[in-house]
Amino acid sequence: PPLEKKEPIGRVGEGENFSRYVGATRFDQLPISKRTKTGLKAAGFVKMTEIQRASLPHSLCWRDILGAAKTGSGKTLAFVITVLEKLYRERWGPEDGVGSIIISPTRELAHQLFDVLKAVGKQHNFSAGLLIGGRKDLDTEKERVNDLNILVCTPGRLLQHMDETPNFDCSQLQVLVLDEADRILDVGFKKALNAIVSQLPKHRQTLLFSATQTKSVQDLARLSLKDPEYLSVHEES
Ligand code: ADP
Ligand code: MG
Repeated sequence: PPLEKKEPIGRVGEGENFSRYVGATRFDQLPISKRTKTGLKAAGFVKMTEIQRASLPHSLCWRDILGAAKTGSGKTLAFVITVLEKLYRERWGPEDGVGSIIISPTRELAHQLFDVLKAVGKQHNFSAGLLIGGRKDLDTEKERVNDLNILVCTPGRLLQHMDETPNFDCSQLQVLVLDEADRILDVGFKKALNAIVSQLPKHRQTLLFSATQTKSVQDLARLSLKDPEYLSVHEES
């Protein structure tokens, strides 16, 4: 890639000045990188939806989030922007390995959110991979997986890599996202999720988004959420 002028990287409030952004209604009012802003604009995203307005001022201070908003309310961008900004601010590079894992309950949903990540993250230099099983050859995937910065995956396939891929390393994980968290926390995924979480570093940001609010204290405990911000949006966005 051509040499790019390094943008200065400002500090987002460590909890004290995030309130400045609570009233923001457009993405370009947020303290996010030019790269992400360009990606958002190119994809046609200008005004934030309700859940994005409610969550981004908190998630961009790296707080844990438990966000509930109905299907179609724009939850994907809320976590995709946070993941990109976190890694950008950490100056995440090719050698840093897996910085973020985004878990989705189905292949189809993983595909959809991967497309959003690609579009909005186009100006960034992160490598991202879709690990969802199916026809993709596991051995080829194993060779590449350690070079990826952002993993978008289904629980089963992620666990398969954790168990079988030599040197699979997520010890530097910065952000864990559970999309459709209520479905992933459901009994069907319980064993896989517990096995996954037990292999992740506890010191990280965790973002849970779903259509319904997850209330189980037990679930939140096993995910090691730290003082999460509970957000529930019911209005039309
Ligand atoms: P959810 O995950 O809450 O069901 P999605 O993230 O899939 O919702 O978004 C639903 C639709 O809304 C998508 O087509 C998406 O492109 C669109 N969308 C999301 N955020 C915005 C926005 N800020 N402005 C315009 N359209 C948006
Ligand atoms: Mg969604």
